[in-house]
Amino acid sequence: MISRLIKRAVSSVFSSEKQQAETRPEPVVIPRSAHTVSRANISESALKVLYRLKRGGYRGYLVGGGVRDLLLGHKPKDFDVATDATPEQIRKLFSNCRLIGRRFRLAHVRYGREIIEVATFRAGHAATPEGAAVSDEGRVLRDNVYGSFEEDAWRRDFTVNSLYYDIRDFSVVDCTGGMADLKRGMLRLIGDPEQRYREDPVRMLRAVRFSAKLGFQIEAKTAAPIRELSYLLTEVPAARLYEEVLKLFLGGHAASVFRLLDKYGIFEQLFPEVAESLEDEGGDRKLLLSRAFLNTDSRILGDKHVTPGFLFAALLWGPLQRAAKAYQADGMTPLQAIEHACGGVLAKQVQRVAIPRRFSTVSREIWTLQPRLERRRGRQPFRLIEHPRFRAGYDFLLLRAEAGEPVKELAEWWTNFLESDEEARALALKAVHRPSGRPRRRRRRRPRKAPE
Ligand code: ATP
Ligand code: MG
Repeated sequence: MISRLIKRAVSSVFSSEKQQAETRPEPVVIPRSAHTVSRANISESALKVLYRLKRGGYRGYLVGGGVRDLLLGHKPKDFDVATDATPEQIRKLFSNCRLIGRRFRLAHVRYGREIIEVATFRAGHAATPEGAAVSDEGRVLRDNVYGSFEEDAWRRDFTVNSLYYDIRDFSVVDCTGGMADLKRGMLRLIGDPEQRYREDPVRMLRAVRFSAKLGFQIEAKTAAPIRELSYLLTEVPAARLYEEVLKLFLGGHAASVFRLLDKYGIFEQLFPEVAESLEDEGGDRKLLLSRAFLNTDSRILGDKHVTPGFLFAALLWGPLQRAAKAYQADGMTPLQAIEHACGGVLAKQVQRVAIPRRFSTVSREIWTLQPRLERRRGRQPFRLIEHPRFRAGYDFLLLRAEAGEPVKELAEWWTNFLESDEEARALALKAVHRPSGRPRRRRRRRPRKAPE
């Protein structure tokens, strides 16, 4: 009954959408002289694709983040192309092309390491309900329905993501008012926000991501329904959420992303256990996360390597410690307790966000290294620094110290140990034996030779 009601509501939205399509304003063409997108900043591969489409008699546009970022004077992450050629026609045009995607059929054209995504114009599902599959909540399950250029523009998420660079005359075509929003620094969903979030709840994550990345405001109507609809994210497949979570936290703006996710009640949908531990333990726990995000951001800014395993280790540290404490209360050692707690914490989390095993293994290693870093007797520190994940484990220890956990002295000891030469390391080891922390006064015998 309820599902019938919802389906009826959805189909009434379809017909109102159809009427809407008829009253849409004409596209605005901004000539080359009036915008800043220059071919000099478009990758050669993307230009090749556009020119070949044109020579083949098709329309070819650069669209999405590429145009948006160029207009803002940023370097685009990648270039997406939209065309009226079908995937099969695209394949005939490009030998270096692969058709991918179940949800959307897309062509990937590859030049060395660069992939240009070429998509056939699509209609929003609302304009042609026959070709789209919709869940009872209104979520679009399949929307591989080809459409006109304008339909393609109106089915996109934000107005600033719906600007098209036309290779025929180098103009920018704006159907949805994206140019004005871009100038105002405004993120506005195209169409009715609630309906657009119901079709695809990931758009809530995209709103947060672009707002953090571009420093744009989320326009009031676009922001309004997010908190109430954030629960819809639990319907999104965990594998897709994993991809989105990576983009959220590894885009160089994790700190502001986290603030926004928290503000809109989204974080608790993605990481319910973490949200719970933040609520119960407050301050310090949040501090560790904020530090982790700031560190991640500055590493990304400095082009340094970042592993998702570290990120998830930091995110889930609260729930992990909570579980480990319970095991310790049952008489396990700290190491045993952490080893036991890992599995349960990760198993719960991957139901929401499917962290691949190769990364959850890294988180596990980082966690189990924590109690091991406390063992500083004899050869143990030398063995530990040989551990393939030692560096990440040590960085994690520093993070805990920065966040006010009682491991400051331990973290300093390791920093000192790592910075020292062999002789000083031997001294540092000796100091561990003495509660005062002072090295012995009497003359030392020659230190044992350390392994290389
Ligand atoms: P960036 O690549 O910088 O992360 P982008 O805007 O290019 O940002 P992509 O995920 O590459 O984002 O998507 C390309 C374009 O496809 C978007 O700009 C938007 O027009 C459209 N798009 C992507 N995801 C959606 C979605 N969930 N709903 C509607 N349109 C979308
Ligand atoms: Mg893109």
